[in-house]
Amino acid sequence: MRERCADAMSIFAKYGAPDLFITFTANPKWLEITENLRPSEHTTDCPDLFARVFNLRLESLMDDPTVHGELGKSIAQVYTIEFQKRGLPHTHILIVLRAADKFSTSEHIDKFVRADIPSSIENLRLHEIVTKCLMHGPCGIDNPVAPCIEAGQCKKMFPKEFRTETTMNVSVYPLYRRCPSDTTFVRGR
Ligand SMILES: [Zn+2]
Repeated sequence: MRERCADAMSIFAKYGAPDLFITFTANPKWLEITENLRPSEHTTDCPDLFARVFNLRLESLMDDPTVHGELGKSIAQVYTIEFQKRGLPHTHILIVLRAADKFSTSEHIDKFVRADIPSSIENLRLHEIVTKCLMHGPCGIDNPVAPCIEAGQCKKMFPKEFRTETTMNVSVYPLYRRCPSDTTFVRGR
């Protein structure tokens, strides 16, 4: 583990700071999993199936930047897979893009990253994925015992403020566009 950590540090020392930080989490509702469970079996009965499907999906995801150049062509990438007790296996991926594909403008970021809820009228599938799998909270006044709350504050700084445009933020994450709109969703309510 120490050797691999040192390798990762050397990779970024040589190729520069990563441009993309992607988190990829397993989903027990993936068809490859549900179709291969026997009637009485639950996902937790088949960790081997779960891990294999997760790995296949991860390989396919990694092909996007490395082979196909989706999101920009990658010149170096590092990832770590975590199995955290009751949690689902997930990966944190860091990717260095080639110079021509680096995110240099807010418009370029907006093409690939969105932080708002997609409209259910314009794109129902995306709206359902985001509201099912990518929503934070409720936390704060609505749920003071949420796991993200520390000293009365959300550790992840939710809810985020609305912004009409993405702002580049040297050395930290960009401040993403979150336009106020008619689309509102609160998980579980
Ligand atoms: Zn929170």
